[in-house]
Amino acid sequence: MLTFDSVLGQEQLKKQLQKAAEEGRPSHAYLIAGEKGSGKRTIAKCFAKALQCTGEGSRPCGKCQSCLQMEDGSQPDVIYIEPDEKDSIGVGTVRERINDDIVIKPYRGPYKIYLVCDAQKMTVQAQNALLKTLEEPPKYAVLLLLTSSVEQILPTIQSRSVRLSMQPLPDETIRRYLMNSFKVPDYEADTYVTFARGNLGRATELLKNEDFETKKEEAIALLKSIDSADFGELYLKAAALGKEKDMGILNFFYIWYRDALCYKAMNQSEGLIFKEEIQYIKKVSREISYEGFEEIFAALLKTQEMIRANVNMETAMELLFVAIRDCRKE
Ligand SMILES: [Zn+2]
Repeated sequence: MLTFDSVLGQEQLKKQLQKAAEEGRPSHAYLIAGEKGSGKRTIAKCFAKALQCTGEGSRPCGKCQSCLQMEDGSQPDVIYIEPDEKDSIGVGTVRERINDDIVIKPYRGPYKIYLVCDAQKMTVQAQNALLKTLEEPPKYAVLLLLTSSVEQILPTIQSRSVRLSMQPLPDETIRRYLMNSFKVPDYEADTYVTFARGNLGRATELLKNEDFETKKEEAIALLKSIDSADFGELYLKAAALGKEKDMGILNFFYIWYRDALCYKAMNQSEGLIFKEEIQYIKKVSREISYEGFEEIFAALLKTQEMIRANVNMETAMELLFVAIRDCRKE
């Protein structure tokens, strides 16, 4: 059952929304920003549930009719707007589902709540149409605009909304969640946590991704071969990687060299992610100087930027391999 307590982390945000719901004084529009998988929808739903709850005591109560309807998605005064099959929210949708609908009073509850998922996918026209409603909303209206990209929301909408940001979850929170809810063993949970970078959605997605383990093995094999393979071979590997634009491989590279650097500094295997590769990690930590590590991390960052800027993945990986190799020659 969805309550504020069941939402992980986001303490500040929860406190603020819970207070607004309890005092019965929500703003007319909220802009909730956070990357994909950060839990925007969950917290927005919880807020909507609390606002519409008619139960006694702490809200959402989970027992009243509105709460039960929220659970099965049939609460008539909470309206979800999502991108269409073209992955866009057009002006027609905004007019029909929000502007024309918002003037009709709520069926039963005190509020009429519109939850716009991926609000950045509203076209400029659609956003301008929404603006009209935001300028003079009926008193019972609450708009929850969720977005992974605030820059794509018109400044005029931003300035009329209460802006809220999702915070990354502490590693330990994600780790415990994976271990408790999915029975992931601790050493495996560490890898997922590193990849998740505070994003629970990303962690669970990786967990369900069967390719993950295969990719991990491939990446490790590649890392081990960097100093022994000849340039022609590396070129072929870069070319193979170039076929699928997959940033994930860089994460494995980061973990690998981070592990090696940790070992160099601490001389112990505790805290390492790739513990099962400890012999090799030790070797790498001896072969690379602190300066060398710095150069590798800089090269990884640069590669990431290049791929983001749409430089050919093959070229970017090739440059990375050369940089990593050069660092090891000292
Ligand atoms: Zn309730």
